[in-house]
Amino acid sequence: MKLTVVGHWGGYPAVNGATSCYLLQKDNFSLVIDMGSSALSKLQTYIHVTAIDAVIISHYHTDHVADIGVLQHARLVQTYLQGHSGILPIYGHAEDQQAFNKLSHDYTSGVLYHPKRQLNIGPFTIKFLRTKHSVPCYGMRITDGEQTIVYTADSAFKEEWVSFAMDADLLVTDCNFYEDQAKMADDAGHMTSAQGAYIAQQANVKELLLSHLPHFGKHEQLVAEAKQYFSKTVHLAEEGFVWQVR
Ligand code: ZN
Repeated sequence: MKLTVVGHWGGYPAVNGATSCYLLQKDNFSLVIDMGSSALSKLQTYIHVTAIDAVIISHYHTDHVADIGVLQHARLVQTYLQGHSGILPIYGHAEDQQAFNKLSHDYTSGVLYHPKRQLNIGPFTIKFLRTKHSVPCYGMRITDGEQTIVYTADSAFKEEWVSFAMDADLLVTDCNFYEDQAKMADDAGHMTSAQGAYIAQQANVKELLLSHLPHFGKHEQLVAEAKQYFSKTVHLAEEGFVWQVR
């Protein structure tokens, strides 16, 4: 499977950037994970809007769902232009019923996921872990039967991440703060570089991708900090970054 980073900013998009959005592909199936601000514009660099097979949402903070509305408009417009009539499933949890209801529109349909149950979408099997965040949010362990990717979505540190991420090929962590800001990160419901790296090391994952990046400091410092705690490969999320095992 192939993961492309579409947007990696935390909170709001930097100039010409986008917030959380990832494109996960296997064979001819394309799953979009989170749909942050400016994500739709960036996403079209990699895929036509009508070629998206499914979307899954970790939680309903704006930096993860801002572009759901415009994605719905895009599907509507393309339906008129191309006669494309597929209904796009958008998976979300229902712990915020009002937000969940907004996933349904003329050509999109909100589909509930039950966090305690395994979910199958196309070639992917997904397990969930409730994160430590200010609103209900779910991290995901996604496998295609060959490789496994774990995505923390937005979360403060919690020890359960270690078992949840055990032996994954790639761990994508919320890295919204620098190592010396652990208290601030915890209060904000996010993690530091060092915390993400600690999970990666304890869970014996193969590679770590630092994402949901802060709007301050030098991001290279996040990598340097993470490398002190995780002995294998550390990647810094950037737009268009592709992870694929060959
Ligand atoms: Zn959030």
